Amino acid sequence: MTDAVTDAAQQVAADKGKVLEDRLAGLRKTADRPSPALPLAKQTFGLANALEDLFLSADSQSDRSRQRAIGPSEVGDDCARRLRYKVIGTPPVRQDQDSWAAILGTSAHLWIAEVFRQRNRTLGRERYLIEHRVTVRPGMTGQVDLYDKATATAYDWKLVGPETLRSYGTQGPPNRYLVQGQLYGRGLQNEGLEVRKIAIVVLPRAAKIRDKAQIWSYAPDQDVVDASLARLDEIAGLPAGTPMDVIPATAQSECRWCPWFDPGHAVEADERGCRGGHFARRRKDTCEDLIA
Ligand code: SF4
Repeated sequence: MTDAVTDAAQQVAADKGKVLEDRLAGLRKTADRPSPALPLAKQTFGLANALEDLFLSADSQSDRSRQRAIGPSEVGDDCARRLRYKVIGTPPVRQDQDSWAAILGTSAHLWIAEVFRQRNRTLGRERYLIEHRVTVRPGMTGQVDLYDKATATAYDWKLVGPETLRSYGTQGPPNRYLVQGQLYGRGLQNEGLEVRKIAIVVLPRAAKIRDKAQIWSYAPDQDVVDASLARLDEIAGLPAGTPMDVIPATAQSECRWCPWFDPGHAVEADERGCRGGHFARRRKDTCEDLIA
């Protein structure tokens, strides 16, 4: 009797084991099932093109892409010629600029903004001003990513790829970002807000924040703001028709992102476009843009 019970129990266990084994085998079989997908090249070519067209077309309607007036992120550009093209309203010579990196940067900004909105809700008070619009001077506005009232610090997020991250690690962020932060500081001060510190937070696009983020902070400096705005006014005030090739240009890697960069241009620079700096002509393009 006891043996019969034992046998029955063993049989039940064996059946259960068999059922489980079959189920697991089924999972393996599903994973091994041949895919009905189209050949990779054919599938990805059409889809990738359609997605890019859709994304870039949507981006072309964004405030960032449609901005025509010089903004705080451009005032400190090392290239006076590029600023001149912008202030006199020269149409871009390039229609092929890939704004995907900028789209990613904008998306990250939106996400970070939501994090701090939630933080304000948790605190039950508005410690942080988020994506706060400021007026640097009449006709020049900008958006401060974050202002912390508790520490009187203005933050500016930058999302960058590995190559740019390495370059900032050795040379620091470019002048135009330092000037941009100073202009935001002026805008906040114009509202009567105290600014003790300005911080550029460089976030890695392809690494852990704690491993690779860089934070560059500095004090507000009215002289930098005044000198930068005076330089811009000088550039804007040049007589109409001033030849572009006499306006100083800085040979820099960022020519590749300049809307007036035309490497095949017949002359160094004219009213339509610019051949760019020496470095730009040698360099192979990569997707290492940084988001303003
Ligand atoms: S292509 Fe380069 S050198 Fe020419 S205007 Fe643009 S940033 Fe300046």
